[in-house]
Amino acid sequence: MSDSAKGTWFTEIFGDEGTAFGLEITAKLHEEQTQYQFLEVYDTKTFGKLMVLDGCVMLTSRDNFLYHEMMSHPALFTHPNPKKVAIIGGGDCGTLREVLKHPGVEKCTQIDIDEKVTWASQQWFPELCESNNDPRAELLFDDGIAWVKNCAPGTMDLIIIDSTDPVGPAEGLFAVDFYRDCLQALKPEGILVQQSESPLLHSHSIIRKMHDDMREAGFHQCHTLPFPQPVYPTGWWSCTMASPLGSVTHFRSEDVAAKTFATEYYNLEIHKAALAMPEFMKRHLARQA
Ligand code: SAM
Repeated sequence: MSDSAKGTWFTEIFGDEGTAFGLEITAKLHEEQTQYQFLEVYDTKTFGKLMVLDGCVMLTSRDNFLYHEMMSHPALFTHPNPKKVAIIGGGDCGTLREVLKHPGVEKCTQIDIDEKVTWASQQWFPELCESNNDPRAELLFDDGIAWVKNCAPGTMDLIIIDSTDPVGPAEGLFAVDFYRDCLQALKPEGILVQQSESPLLHSHSIIRKMHDDMREAGFHQCHTLPFPQPVYPTGWWSCTMASPLGSVTHFRSEDVAAKTFATEYYNLEIHKAALAMPEFMKRHLARQA
């Protein structure tokens, strides 16, 4: 532990909201300006390791399971038979690990723009990288927007957008043109799922726009699933699922009940509960006639 870091705190300030989130850190393990973002890794007093990009908390050892499980399992159990999966972003490899728990998945390609994120995860979050050498895993370091644009049409079962907030290199991942390219890359029964920020802060803004943009791109149904995430702004986060054809609120519940792999959070009751929509979200996401 470095003396300079002892007893100090990492604080992420959410200026627009007048709030902040802090963790007591016991050491700074790494910092570097990568080609794309400022990357920091800390050891914390009670949340294990902490990864930060451009001052924003990405994940901690203690609570990343909430996000990674909800970004993967609801969508995988909604699709009838997912075999080919792409993860846009997700460089910490936690979502990849969850996807590869599904024995039916034949290939999962992860496309993160910044290989330093994966390098840092391999150093300090090795448990998230334990499936990186699975023969079904393909790790690419490229812009996810370009990768989806160039993807062979009608080839993907599931696209998971596990990105940073809609600024910098991730801005174009929250846009109607990108969703059109995703739709083109998906098979007709394919599913898109994207991390969609805080229900409390963003239902009327980012999430509402996401629904509108996905529909404009040609997705038939969209649904936002909230879940807890203590280290993100407001402690409450969400993912939004969309499908060009079918329903995203019906899922393979019998397969969830009989799942053959361990999870920390996700199960049948959690999936059902996550589909329930709070009243204020219904209001914000209601479609205009
Ligand atoms: N759970 C996190 C959150 O919601 O804050 C996201 C974690 S994951 C580390 C986010 C990743 O998205 C980063 O590694 C970043 O490099 C990647 N990313 C951002 N823009 C991208 C783009 N255009 N193409 C591919 N990856 C991108």
